[in-house]
Amino acid sequence: MTTDSDSISISYNSARFAQSASKLSNCPPDDGYEIAFAGRSNSGKSSAINTITNNKKLARTSKTPGRTQLINFFSLSTPKARLVDLPGYGYAKVSLDLKAEWGRHLDDYLQNRESLSALVLIMDIRKPLTDFDNMMLNWSDESSLPTVILLTKSDKMKFGPAKQVYFKTREALEGHSSLVDIILFSSLKKSGVEESRATLTDIFNHAMPKE
Ligand code: GDP
Repeated sequence: MTTDSDSISISYNSARFAQSASKLSNCPPDDGYEIAFAGRSNSGKSSAINTITNNKKLARTSKTPGRTQLINFFSLSTPKARLVDLPGYGYAKVSLDLKAEWGRHLDDYLQNRESLSALVLIMDIRKPLTDFDNMMLNWSDESSLPTVILLTKSDKMKFGPAKQVYFKTREALEGHSSLVDIILFSSLKKSGVEESRATLTDIFNHAMPKE
């Protein structure tokens, strides 16, 4: 993706916790632009949000007891632009049903939230493309929702094998119309951060109306 000279720049460092919601009716007014982060528990989702926003404490908010099942909204200094931390999905192999796995309210958010502009799917580079990840990608295709994959914890592999996972994942996902980008990411080494920010900024720019 390329960035136009007249594009809006987004300051990810400006991200602030705005509110949590347990259901669609508790969410901020549905008139903005949201990029939602989804991923299996322990995939590195909170760390990725913290790294992208350069704020070590930001997504920890969502880990305080009682908040893990909530949808957490972070505002940005760009009006109406938000990042959203979705509850991590579990290890359950049993169900490939959004409602069963994540609960009715999250399903409601994904299906009905007008502001939802893109999805960032977090995958541990050592365990990419779980059944649930694949289901989310199929759902993104059906919903025409731009989707970015972050292959997190890439520091856990040497560069060669990490690149191999990257190419294999790209090959496996050929034909997914919603897939915008796959990014090798490490919160530990802070790699893939600028690329992630640039991709999210492109998405915001495409979603927001031009003056
Ligand atoms: P979440 O449950 O998906 O939000 O995952 P967390 O962000 O809490 O991370 C889960 C575990 O993986 C924690 O122990 C993190 O310190 C670790 N982790 C997250 N990102 C990275 C990374 O880029 N590299 C390494 N080596 N560990 C990471």
